Amino acid sequence: DLQEIERVLEDKTISHVACVHCETTTGILNPIHDIGCLVKAAGKIWIVDAMSSFGGVPMDIAELEIDFLISSANKCIQGVPGFGFILAKRDCIEACKGLARSVSLDLYDQWNTMEQYNGKWRFTSPTHVVRAFYQALLELEVEGGVAARYQRYLQNQQTLSQGMQQLGFELVLGEECPQSPIITTFLYPTAKSFSFQSFYETLKKSGYVIYPGKVTDLNCFRIGNIGEVYIHDIEGLLAAIASYCENHLNQAVTA
Ligand SMILES: *Cc1c(COP(=O)(O)O)cnc(C)c1O
Repeated sequence: DLQEIERVLEDKTISHVACVHCETTTGILNPIHDIGCLVKAAGKIWIVDAMSSFGGVPMDIAELEIDFLISSANKCIQGVPGFGFILAKRDCIEACKGLARSVSLDLYDQWNTMEQYNGKWRFTSPTHVVRAFYQALLELEVEGGVAARYQRYLQNQQTLSQGMQQLGFELVLGEECPQSPIITTFLYPTAKSFSFQSFYETLKKSGYVIYPGKVTDLNCFRIGNIGEVYIHDIEGLLAAIASYCENHLNQAVTA
């Protein structure tokens, strides 16, 4: 609620504002452009958690005036898990000197060591993960960059969402919510016989691993569609879900 954000930001004691871009518990893509305009107009430091959007959703960090953008090797960049990274304005990171309350998470010290020692990591470098990250960046380039990857994710998500609704599943997010192209949340089917555990395990046996748990009180489950995943994979998943519904829920496909 942008009006509510604007109102809260009048509080002079607030110095920093953080926002999750692609909010992976529900699948909402928060409007960081609109929120950022309010944050910068109010003169606050602007931190964006772009864990599961950076590399898969086009964004111009300079234009968005983001002071700190946080992301990870293993989401839309499609590297392997092992490190996170932060893109920060130089003056903002310099202002952090001596402020960290933890040794390991001292971002200034990490940055300063890399600056001073030609890219050296402060502690043991995650060499294989960095090499995989480099390869992942080359693959992103070959795919056509962030714009092309965004289109693929968008098509994956739309195919999934439409196919699931044809199978009788309902979306948790209403029409008015901006849906991310990354992950979608569905309500449990109404059939009394539905068990998420059995659904999850049956799909896994067919070669499709969905998110193993839910994160709200709602009876819902999530399906992510990022990574080396294409339309034919989504169609295969939909076929496996249709077959599950017929065999376990006596819910014939109504499409
Ligand atoms: C995936 C994710 C995390 C966790 O990141 P990892 O690098 O996988 O540990 C945190 N926040 C958001 C919004 C995410 O999507």
